[in-house]
Amino acid sequence: MAQERDERGRPTRLIHPLRRASHDFQSLATPTYRASTVLFDKLADVGEDRRNEEQYRYGLHGTPTTRELAARIAEMEGAAKVQILPSGLAAIALVYWTFCKQGNHVLVPTTAYGPNGWIGRFLKKFGVEAERYDPLIGAGIADLIRDDTSLIWCESPGSVTMEVQDIPAIAAAAHARGALVALDNTYAAGVLFDAFGHGADIAVQALTKYPAGHADLLLGSASARDPELADKLASTRFHMGIGVSPADCSLALRGLMTFDLRLKHVERAALDVARWLKDRPEVAKVLHPALTDCPGHQVWKRDFAGSSGIFSFIVHDWPWAKIEAFVDGLELFKIGYSWGGPVSLALAYPDLRRPSAQEGPRLIRLNIGLEDVDDLKADLAQSFAKVAHA
Ligand SMILES: *Cc1c(COP(=O)(O)O)cnc(C)c1O
Repeated sequence: MAQERDERGRPTRLIHPLRRASHDFQSLATPTYRASTVLFDKLADVGEDRRNEEQYRYGLHGTPTTRELAARIAEMEGAAKVQILPSGLAAIALVYWTFCKQGNHVLVPTTAYGPNGWIGRFLKKFGVEAERYDPLIGAGIADLIRDDTSLIWCESPGSVTMEVQDIPAIAAAAHARGALVALDNTYAAGVLFDAFGHGADIAVQALTKYPAGHADLLLGSASARDPELADKLASTRFHMGIGVSPADCSLALRGLMTFDLRLKHVERAALDVARWLKDRPEVAKVLHPALTDCPGHQVWKRDFAGSSGIFSFIVHDWPWAKIEAFVDGLELFKIGYSWGGPVSLALAYPDLRRPSAQEGPRLIRLNIGLEDVDDLKADLAQSFAKVAHA
């Protein structure tokens, strides 16, 4: 090949080269297969292909890289099929587009991930009514379900305030009235809580968090165990034209190789820091599902296989300025949204009204990263000391 004389023009030679590197190659990385156009051998295959959804036929149907990630998440969650979306929030939105129509009513816990909580304002223009409910309502949700309720969201533990929900009780009430249960299973990374085993119909997660694991990309997943529901999610994703970057999927696949180790590490480290905080005189409550201060702790013990690296604590009557000084005074803990990455993070919320109007502004949320846990405790201790002397 290399010796062959090529008389064609350079543009043609560059696009249709005669000389090619060998593809007889194996490595541990999942290659980043990029594609809009996917090639067929013969024209007849194009028509044939449309009937076989396993075939690759256009970038929006996925490439081996994006499908590899979907397969891995399906295996972790026990799902029939998984849709990969450009972010966790896009996965949440996909569930609304798929399972709500004009005139429907949906129930969303007051502790849902912020943008899922606000989405009601946006859904209104499509004639969908979103109502907020108490995350600890359990079987009492039956009283809120209407004939037009199509979807009940759960998120357990709740964002920031960590209430653990009784998903089996909520699912039983929902199914008795023909409503679907969608679970935002990001905290459990799809593995610490068996969404489908506990009655959820649809599971979403922000792959941005533990699966990706390095705070450097956005991805989400939406899945179902029931093949019919899974197909509906797939159809909506396609019709909305939502595809994902194979480069990001390849990074998430790399992240999955260390996923279990990271999750086990942050579980231990977060519990260690949470118990240490519980003994601090400044701290009133530690909202970590494995500790008894956390509402729904008993449900967590019954239903979860473990805990992850995010939790909150509430300090005794500090004014906001002192909370600010404490968070700003941390050195290893950085300030920023999201979690599940290698770097520990801290955030506080001046306008938070959960778990009560008094406690909300005194709550500090921590993401425990992969640093040495003694150094993290020392960092918290030095900031406690600084604000004590201020
Ligand atoms: C981060 C997060 C999301 C959103 O994920 P993005 O990828 O950041 O859009 C959704 N739900 C929960 C519970 C989250 O923590």
